[in-house]
Amino acid sequence: MKISNQNYTSETFSHIYIEKDALYYPLTNKITSKLNKSKIVYIDNYNEIFSRKNQNPFLQKLSPSLILAVNKGDFIYKGSTLCHNFEQQNFYYTNFVVNCLLDCDYCYLKGMNFSSNILFFVNLSDYFHELSRLLNVIKERPERGQGKLYLSISYDSDILLFEGIYPFLKEWIEFAEANPQITIEIRTKTSNYKKFLNYSPLENLIITWSISPKEVIAKYEKNTPSLERRLMAISQLLEKGWKVNLALDPILYIGENWRDTYKEFLNLLSVNINLKKINAITLGVFRIPVEYLKRFKKFFKSPISFFPYDTVNGVSSYPEELKSKMIEFVSSELEKIYDKRNIYIV
Ligand code: SF4
Repeated sequence: MKISNQNYTSETFSHIYIEKDALYYPLTNKITSKLNKSKIVYIDNYNEIFSRKNQNPFLQKLSPSLILAVNKGDFIYKGSTLCHNFEQQNFYYTNFVVNCLLDCDYCYLKGMNFSSNILFFVNLSDYFHELSRLLNVIKERPERGQGKLYLSISYDSDILLFEGIYPFLKEWIEFAEANPQITIEIRTKTSNYKKFLNYSPLENLIITWSISPKEVIAKYEKNTPSLERRLMAISQLLEKGWKVNLALDPILYIGENWRDTYKEFLNLLSVNINLKKINAITLGVFRIPVEYLKRFKKFFKSPISFFPYDTVNGVSSYPEELKSKMIEFVSSELEKIYDKRNIYIV
């Protein structure tokens, strides 16, 4: 699998599974023409491949297949309480791409999905229809969040990885332009900033960069761009006037020297990017539904899976005392270099 430049080659996916209904969508042709050496297998329903039990997601992660399907279920979901909602009443997310080619040890997708294959839903226009309907509902009930809607479009994947084969950015940017009452958030660890340079910055489109100390990236964020490359990408877009958030999330307990590691990391941020231009910063320690953690332990033998977490209301995370210490330390260090009114803690 070649993903070092986030440029796709025919070897990226040895197999593409295509739902027969997906053949009617032009996007399917566009995608397959870019991956013209992959072996194509036609299927009736994507769940035959994606949701089959007894798969080994660890082995699939080494060489995932691509699945092209039509989403016939839900398009827009209420945001999880485990995510930052920026105090927005109408906080939603959507997923037209599921799973990721990057390989973070703490990624909840590894616990949530039976498969590590990459799933693209090719009926993007249906997402926009549903979103327009939801916006109308919200507009008619302005007491709910002043008619505004916050939508994260990349919770179940790092979608910017795939822009080269699944061109979604133009359509989302056009939708945001036409609907100022929606704020769209794209979350990423890539360094793919150049695509944005083809457009003018939008007040209601936020790019959230997930960043971590170098030690965390080296140990727990396999295949991801280095911190330097991410900071360079952030600087480029800030300079062009794009709205950028930073996600220092998950903050990980990486041994007794965690304070030094995070202090050095925050120092590096203040030196390398103009923090005054950052729209907001979110903080949160590692947390995961306990059921997902069970799958981590079964298939992914990372130290992240085996830390002695506490579980409260079905969510596993660090014991309360450690969690508080970590949040207090990182937030108080961050407040020395960044406006605390724009720091959000989950
Ligand atoms: S970049 Fe995000 S979606 Fe991809 S593996 Fe890492 S945590 Fe998961």
